[in-house]
Amino acid sequence: MSAENLLELASRLEPLISTFNPPPVYWIGNGGEGLDYCFACCKALVDDHNKKRSATDAKWVVDGGWDAQRENDGPASCDACSKTLGYTLTQCGVAQEIDHFQQHPPTSPLDPDTAYAIGAILDEAAYSDCAEVVDAAMKIGAAAIAALPEELISDDSLDCDTAAS
Ligand SMILES: [Zn+2]
Repeated sequence: MSAENLLELASRLEPLISTFNPPPVYWIGNGGEGLDYCFACCKALVDDHNKKRSATDAKWVVDGGWDAQRENDGPASCDACSKTLGYTLTQCGVAQEIDHFQQHPPTSPLDPDTAYAIGAILDEAAYSDCAEVVDAAMKIGAAAIAALPEELISDDSLDCDTAAS
């Protein structure tokens, strides 16, 4: 029941989320510090290292990029340019994100980046058996929908009014 409600909320955010298509996570293979990057930043770092490396240094490669939504303990972003990367949240990540949005509720008009972050919460919370998480996610989802830009609000009661007039 609650899970359905969460997915229903998520589907109402979908028109906005679908305008935001974060790139997959890349990382440096054969070296680096295991950080997440967008492709452009990862390639720039790899090229730079390979140009400057001494004969004994390992040759770096661009790795990753196959997982459009890697499971993460929090929102994924490029360590170099801070661009949001595709992710889904772990249960631990959901708890942290709920905490974040309880302290910083979504503001109107909702932007695609935030809609994506809240969609990730709703998607994962739908599979939570913790009532507290489901409840908190419902509130954040409802706040997000209330903050949707006007042209993206799909209000059923509005359809009824139009049909009646
Ligand atoms: Zn980047």
